[in-house]
Amino acid sequence: MSAEHRILAVYISLCAVTLVLLVGFLWTSQKRIWAAGENQLSYSTDLIAEWIDSAFVASDFVLRDMVGHITPDELLFPHPDPIRHSALSELLDARRQSLPHAFLYGVFDANCIVTHGNAVLGFDASDREYCEKLRDDPKRNSIVTHGYASNVGPLNVTHARALRDANDEFLGIVAVALDVRFFDEWLQNMGVGPLDALAIVDTKGMLLARYPAVDIAAGEIIDNRYLGAFIADDQKFMATFFDAPIDGASRYWGARKVSDLPFVVMVGIDPSTWKAEWYWIGSLSIVGWLTLIFLATLFLRSHLQVLAGKTEILQQSHSDPLTGVPNRRAFSDRAAKSIAHAECNKSWISLLLIDIDHFKNINDEFGHKVGDMALCAFAKCCAAVVGSADVFARWGGDEFVILVEAEPAAAQLLGKRIQEKIRANEILTPDGRKVSLDATIGIASVKADTSVDLEELLRYADEALLKTKLSDRGRITQRVPSISEK
Ligand code: GH3
Ligand code: MG
Repeated sequence: MSAEHRILAVYISLCAVTLVLLVGFLWTSQKRIWAAGENQLSYSTDLIAEWIDSAFVASDFVLRDMVGHITPDELLFPHPDPIRHSALSELLDARRQSLPHAFLYGVFDANCIVTHGNAVLGFDASDREYCEKLRDDPKRNSIVTHGYASNVGPLNVTHARALRDANDEFLGIVAVALDVRFFDEWLQNMGVGPLDALAIVDTKGMLLARYPAVDIAAGEIIDNRYLGAFIADDQKFMATFFDAPIDGASRYWGARKVSDLPFVVMVGIDPSTWKAEWYWIGSLSIVGWLTLIFLATLFLRSHLQVLAGKTEILQQSHSDPLTGVPNRRAFSDRAAKSIAHAECNKSWISLLLIDIDHFKNINDEFGHKVGDMALCAFAKCCAAVVGSADVFARWGGDEFVILVEAEPAAAQLLGKRIQEKIRANEILTPDGRKVSLDATIGIASVKADTSVDLEELLRYADEALLKTKLSDRGRITQRVPSISEK
C-alpha cells in the first residue's frame, strides 16, 4: 500500500468513525432529552394528582363530620318535625359551606329520596351513580362520581358517603356536589409554557378542567384513542405524542390516573420547547464534526502535496532531465534487480551500450539545440523498442544502455531493431532540414548461472563498442565472454 493510499485510508476511517460517533451522540442525546421530557410529564401529573387527592380527603373529612350528626330517625321525607328538620339542615349546610366549591349538599334515605339539602327535597336520586354504587355495594362507604353536566347547576362531581347501621345495613347517603371549576385553580398555578396544555378528565373521558381555559370544552367527551386505551388498561401513567383533541396542537402528553378517584390528569408539553435544546446540541456537534473534517481535509491535502512533491523529487533524481528516460542512478537500482532475477532463473543476460555516431557533427552543424532534439528523438526510438521488463537508461552524453534478460541472438536482434528504428526516424530541424541518426552498439551477453558482475558486463560492452568505433560505425559487436575469460 502506497503512502497516499495509507493516508487516504486513515482519512476515510477518521470520517467514518467520527460520523458514527456523531450519529450515536445525537441519538443518545435525543433519547436523554426525550426521557427528561417524560420525567417532567410524570412529575407534573403526579403533583396535580396529589392535589386532587388531597382535595377529596378534605371533602371526605367534611362528609364524615356530617354523617356524625345524622341519626337514622332523621331520614324521613316529609319530616314530621319541621324544627328538628330545619336545625339539622342548617347545621349540615354550614358544614357544606366549609368546602368553598360545594354548591349543594343532600341527605338521602334508604330509597335515595332527598330528606335534607339545599336543593329539591323529596327528589328521587335512585338512578344516580352515587346512589346505585353505595346502595348496591355493601363494602363501599364512599364514592366520588364521574363528571355530571346538570342542566341547573355547573358541571360537577358528587362526593357521597353511605349511612349504615351497626350491621352495615344501608340507611341512606349524605353527599356534596362540587363545582369542577375548582380544578381550574390548580391548573392555573402549575406554571407551564405558553404552548403547553393541562387537562383533567374523568374516566369516562369527560373534560372537567383545562388550562388554558376553553369555555365550551368543559363537559365535552374527549374522543381520543390513546386516552381511551390508557383508561381501559391497568397502567397508572403513560406518555405519548398526539394532537390535542381540543385545539389540534401537537404535544407530548403525560396522563396519570388519580388513585381511587375516577379522574385522569393530563399534561401536554409543546415539543418544540425541549426539542430546541436537542437542535442546539445537534447543531453544535454537527458544526464541530464538520470543522474536524474540514481540518482533516486540509491536513490531507497538504500531506498529499508533500508526498507528491517527494515523489516528483524522487522521480527527477532518477530520470534524465533532457530526455526524460531513466538516468544512470535509476539504471543501477533496476539493473541489480534484473541481474538477481536472471541469476535466480539461470538465464542469459545481455547489456547493450549504444552510442550515436558522429554526434559531435550534429552539434557543430545544426547547433546544440538540434543536438538536444536529436538526443530526445533517439531516446524515444530506443524506449519504443525495449520491453517493460528491460532496463533502459541514458548512460551519459550520446550513450544509452539497455540491460535485457535475453540470449545473445535475441540481444543482437534487439540491437538491430533499435538501429532500424533510429535510421527510419529522421529529425526535422526548426529551419526544415532533415537530420538522420545512426548508432554503434556494443553487446555483452553472459549466462547467469554464476553471479553476474554489472561492472564487468559494462566493461565488456564498452570494449566491444570502442573496438567497432575504431574501425567502423553503424554496426553491432557482441562479446560473449567464456568462463575462462571471466
Ligand atoms: P563517435 O561517432 O565516435 O561517437 O563520434 P561522436 O561525435 O559521437 O563523438 P562522441 O560520442 O565522443 O561525442 C559525444 C558528444 O556529444 C560530445 C558532446 O559535445 C555531445 N553531447 C554530450 N551531451 C550532450 C547534450 O546533452 N546535448 C548536446 N547537444 N550534446 C551533447
Ligand atoms: Mg558518439
